[in-house]
Amino acid sequence: MGDSFEIRPGDKFRLSHVGPTDTSAFKGKKEDAEKEMEGLRSELDRLQELLYADHRHAVLVVLQGMDSAGKDGVIRHVFEGVNPQGVQVAPFKVPTPAEQDHDFLWRIHAQTPAKGHMTIFNRSHYEDVLTVRVHKLVDQGIWEKRYHAINEFERNLTREGTTILKFFLHIDRDEQRKRLEARLQDPTKNWKFSSADLHERQFWDDYQKAYEDMIQQTTTEWAPWHVIPSDHKWFRNWAVSRTIVKTLTGLSLAYPKGEVDVSKVRIPP
Ligand code: AMP
Ligand code: MG
Repeated sequence: MGDSFEIRPGDKFRLSHVGPTDTSAFKGKKEDAEKEMEGLRSELDRLQELLYADHRHAVLVVLQGMDSAGKDGVIRHVFEGVNPQGVQVAPFKVPTPAEQDHDFLWRIHAQTPAKGHMTIFNRSHYEDVLTVRVHKLVDQGIWEKRYHAINEFERNLTREGTTILKFFLHIDRDEQRKRLEARLQDPTKNWKFSSADLHERQFWDDYQKAYEDMIQQTTTEWAPWHVIPSDHKWFRNWAVSRTIVKTLTGLSLAYPKGEVDVSKVRIPP
């Protein structure tokens, strides 16, 4: 995996080989990472404006992880400072009756980014091979075929100009216990506590298995998964920021030529 966190297709992926507490990809201390984050944030702001001006690409960021893994934290800390006009956040909850009456990608496709835009999925179509599998909401014969459907869907999006960045925020079971505990203790976090999280926690091992299979089956050349050790929030934020900035830099975005020859235009007094 190295320090790119990227899971290559074809590799036999084992979640247990990625340590949730591993911060070795960052050479330095927490304070150094936080300092570097400031630079990454302003770079992301610059690149996002360029993405908008360039108008040839769309960017889709997919965030997945267990409850309390830090999906909301990433949105808050990585994207603070970015112009809200060019970035959308799409959270995916339990499907509504109307959503349930359609195929699982219907509500997803409707939220994909337009050219020049960046959309962050807080949960995604991957819930349809995770929670749906763990809780047996559909038969195995159905969810198993969704890996292929997802890969083809994402391939089509990338062909049509969307760059897809998928992050799995990997925490360990004990870290989740601490975070849920904090939600109970801290009055400013009480609102985040939901008894559904305790219920879901009982299925920890089933979820880990579902995540492992999902990553193995849907990490592709066109839309690879990044597995981010996320027990340390500073490291998680840094790793996600750096990956997004690197990817946007790689798009060779450019300001388009204006519609006029600026050397010939004078603004009248
Ligand atoms: P939260 O992200 O904490 O607001 O919770 C959203 C809830 O919606 C989670 O419990 C998800 O498992 C659930 N959810 C999201 N997508 C689906 C889906 N396709 N099918 C069933 N449950 C879902
Ligand atoms: Mg929750």
